[in-house]
Amino acid sequence: MKPPLLQVSGLAKAFDANQVLHDLQFAIAPGEIVGLLGPNGSGKSTLLNIVSGFERPDAGDIRLDGRSIAALPTDRIVALGMVRTFQLPAMPQKMSVLEVAMAAATGAHGVLATLLRSPAARRAERQGHDKAVELLAALLLAPVSHLPAAAISGGQKKLLGIVCALMAGPRLLMLDEPTAGVHPDLRRDIVQALQGLHARGMTLVIVEHDMHFIRELCTRCIVLDQGRIVASCRPDELASNERVVQAYLGA
Ligand code: ADP
Ligand code: MG
Repeated sequence: MKPPLLQVSGLAKAFDANQVLHDLQFAIAPGEIVGLLGPNGSGKSTLLNIVSGFERPDAGDIRLDGRSIAALPTDRIVALGMVRTFQLPAMPQKMSVLEVAMAAATGAHGVLATLLRSPAARRAERQGHDKAVELLAALLLAPVSHLPAAAISGGQKKLLGIVCALMAGPRLLMLDEPTAGVHPDLRRDIVQALQGLHARGMTLVIVEHDMHFIRELCTRCIVLDQGRIVASCRPDELASNERVVQAYLGA
């Protein structure tokens, strides 16, 4: 058995008196596509925020390839190979789709390097440009790559959010509701794009409500209810799992 890519143990988080996550334990193996499910408010986004370093846990540990990342800043976690997307990606008003994708690769170092205009910086910029063009094409955004990012549809913004995450070259990609509010045609494209990434070796954790999407894509589901894991099973086992059914009926 392969050692886990991600290992979470004893993870707890409260916001004031609201205990949002209770003593969570789970592991994700390389190559899995894990659906993270649960009723609204069950703690899914908070879990992604903590694992990706945007929030700090009150207790517990998070290990990526056996190394603790619980105290690392987000940019270090990204550099180690784990990236997340947001439920509602915010888009800069004035940048084009291509510029947004390129900016995701370079970050602060890139801006500085561009100002200094060293040959290495120009080379990195060119590579970032080529990678952005390739990823925009793979996620079906080539036709809109020169439009202002603020002008594209909600679904296309979701795809652009995925492109930005991929610019960092992650091994583990976590997506928060990638198809919420997305047109069904585009939903199909997102499934295909994610299957393509998985075929190229990427491990995925996906918060999603659309059961059709989950069944098509996920190798395993982890179900949260009120901040506790109530099930870890294959998608086809969800409907007959009493605790899962209870979680949704009780909500
Ligand atoms: P989900 O993504 O499963 O819908 P969330 O993780 O967004 O759930 O929220 C879980 C609980 O944590 C909710 O009760 C929510 O109000 C609370 N919560 C989330 N983020 C914060 C925050 N930054 N401050 C206070 N409470 C929060
Ligand atoms: Mg959420």
